[in-house]
Amino acid sequence: MARYLDSKCKLCRREGEKLFLKGEKCFTDKCAIERRSYPPGQHGQKKGRLSDYGVQLREKQKIRRIYGLFEKQFRIIYRHADRQRGVTGDNLLQMLESRLDNIVYLMGFGSSRAESRQIIRHNSILVNGKRVNIPSYIVTPGDTIEVDQKSREQLRIKSSLQSADNRGFPSWIEVDVKAMKGTYKNKPDRADLPATINESLVVELYSK
Ligand code: SF4
Repeated sequence: MARYLDSKCKLCRREGEKLFLKGEKCFTDKCAIERRSYPPGQHGQKKGRLSDYGVQLREKQKIRRIYGLFEKQFRIIYRHADRQRGVTGDNLLQMLESRLDNIVYLMGFGSSRAESRQIIRHNSILVNGKRVNIPSYIVTPGDTIEVDQKSREQLRIKSSLQSADNRGFPSWIEVDVKAMKGTYKNKPDRADLPATINESLVVELYSK
């Protein structure tokens, strides 16, 4: 499968805001956005006005990059969200938030979504007591997620859990830090998710 191998900080600079792709570094003054908050490249500092299509495209790219998905994966999730009852944009965000890699990240077992994906791939995560190594697995409310016994000594897991505990966990998940175990209590409401995301622009873009 294709992988994005260039600098992740460039993606944040392109979108003009922090996407939190590099774990602990994102919370320090080494964050590239703090130093150069303009798009990368020779023409990065030139100001230009975006068309409506450009605004929609940038928002879609931003959301896709936050969750670390390729275009094809993102489209598939969008199609599922569109087929469900309710508001497509809300469904889309809930589906993205319910992915196992995202939940593992929010519970603090990985310092970023990319690291969480690696931890899952390395068989370190149990869902309801069963090993799951598929990052796109959709977690349902009530499911418990825990780090398996062998991986509990991994320093990277311990330190990212400690940092996440210091920052605080979202209200829709509950984490027992000592037991390295958490519960996905309920799907997040739109108000629980960042206001900087405008999912309706993605709906407009894909509805064309
Ligand atoms: Fe983005 Fe994190 Fe890099 Fe800052 S440190 S630019 S938030 S990936």
